[in-house]
Amino acid sequence: ASGYSLLRDPHHNKGLAFTEKERDAHYLRGLLPPAVISQELQEKKLMHSIRQYDVPLHKYMAMMELEERNERLFYKLLIDNVEELLPVVYTPTVGEACQKYGSIFKRPQGLYISLKEKGKILEVLKNWPERMIQVIVVTDGERILGLGDLGCQGMGIPVGKLALYTALGGVRPSACLPITIDVGTNNEKLLKDDFYIGLRQKRATGKEYYDFLHEFMTAVKQNYGEKVLVQFEDFANHNAFELLAKYGTTHLVFNDDIQGTASVVLSGLVASLKLLGGTLGDHTFLFLGAGEAGTGIAELIALEMSKQTKVPLEETRKKIWLVDSKGLIVHSRKESLQHFKKPWAHEHEPCNTLLDAVKAIKPTALIGTSGVGKTFTKEVVEAMAAFNKQPLIMALSNPTSQAECTAEEAYRWTEGRAIFASGSPFDPVEYNGKTYVPGQANNAYIFPGLGFGLVISGAIRVHDDMLLAASEALAGQVTQEHYDKGMIYPPFSNIRKISAHIAANVAAKAYELGVATRLPRPVDLVKYAESCMYTPNYRTYR
Ligand code: NAP
Ligand code: MN
Repeated sequence: ASGYSLLRDPHHNKGLAFTEKERDAHYLRGLLPPAVISQELQEKKLMHSIRQYDVPLHKYMAMMELEERNERLFYKLLIDNVEELLPVVYTPTVGEACQKYGSIFKRPQGLYISLKEKGKILEVLKNWPERMIQVIVVTDGERILGLGDLGCQGMGIPVGKLALYTALGGVRPSACLPITIDVGTNNEKLLKDDFYIGLRQKRATGKEYYDFLHEFMTAVKQNYGEKVLVQFEDFANHNAFELLAKYGTTHLVFNDDIQGTASVVLSGLVASLKLLGGTLGDHTFLFLGAGEAGTGIAELIALEMSKQTKVPLEETRKKIWLVDSKGLIVHSRKESLQHFKKPWAHEHEPCNTLLDAVKAIKPTALIGTSGVGKTFTKEVVEAMAAFNKQPLIMALSNPTSQAECTAEEAYRWTEGRAIFASGSPFDPVEYNGKTYVPGQANNAYIFPGLGFGLVISGAIRVHDDMLLAASEALAGQVTQEHYDKGMIYPPFSNIRKISAHIAANVAAKAYELGVATRLPRPVDLVKYAESCMYTPNYRTYR
């Protein structure tokens, strides 16, 4: 290949880091200025220029531009500066990018499959330049983060998630495929926007929708085989549960909004038992919000409790209560409930408000997953503190403005007794001379390692036990030093090591369950996971 095209190939381009020898061997003489600099210096220079931008969206665009120019340098930056750059390439900035995708869109970063391609999805998959795909993240754009229906502009989400699969989990970039399925949008603003990049029609629903998704899932398996992981992302809950149940028995599928959330929250709960004492079965849980996150977490807690205590699932579920927009979910409402809420309709008097439910149920843990901010009021938190020595409070709704309460409020209203974690990050809080470090139940702790564990074992199905294995591995990374600060999640800066441990534990479970196809089983799975991880250092071209 010519030197000119080498500089324009993001998989191979090294910019000024091409050595003298490489410049001679690959016809690069004269195409670059004379200086030869190291990848470290390139990294330093780029971080400096990214920090110059005040507007987060500009940082995002600079990062995307880098990915298109020099892939290895992009991942080097992301890995070495993960805490600083995660909020840029993923939430919250990616949300703004999706909202403005029509105008910032430069080059397609993934595959668009719209209703126009009906009957031809297999051909469309074959247009993608890479053949060896290991992870697909797919969205239909109906519920992007907390922002609602963004239609075709949801593409930023699969692109961002897969960047994390590579940076945090170690999946090769070329093995990742972002896909947006466009069945229309109900977002009136987008439908009227001249710059909108998607189909200009209302969403297809019912049979038309499900037939289209079926064609997609069939084509994926036909083209990439049984071992490709399909992660459903940001589907509305009226489709998410159904798609997961439908394809869970025939494909390797995972829904991060339901299962990833459940696994990361369960991990925090398991870790907090170290601080609280006792077992999961000693606790009573109350959720505000009974959607994908709430019911997903509830089910995984019930499952883990059932495994630990040998009590049947139907019984352990009774330790868990949920409140939705109509109040406490109770048996008398069962007929009118969506199917994913029915397992939680226990015998009880109706309670209309969260405060009434807290007083009636007396939970030891209160978990917010409603998407509505400021709902853990002073009264609610004080009620939790009244009958719990150390109330466990998780305010998971995103973004920060939607958090059920702040870290500071949780500590202050419980006189420093709360164990607190949230969905969006909060800074450490000083209270009565003590520093409290709140946890962040970030899904990015779990999905990259979980997905990598599936990939390296060649798993062909996801099993709930693998979610439990991931939770345990993450909780296992919290040390005494962390516990002493009140932390229930390990520092994110160690994420590559954390992911390797999660991957190993998930892979071990896959072998145990007989769904792993990579044989023989490596003896030391942590070492094996580490050895398989993609690293972004430049290679030498001879
Ligand atoms: P979802 O499927 O739309 O569910 C939302 C639930 O909240 C529904 O059950 C809804 O009730 C209920 N709700 C809405 N307004 C309410 C109110 N005023 N009072 C009581 N309940 C109310 O959404 P989701 O995917 O579960 O996400 C929910 C939130 O969790 C989002 O803010 C998201 O950012 C957050 N989340 C955090 C993490 C994390 O921390 N790692 C992960 C995933 C999600 P109805 O069913 O009656 O409509
Ligand atoms: Mn999501």
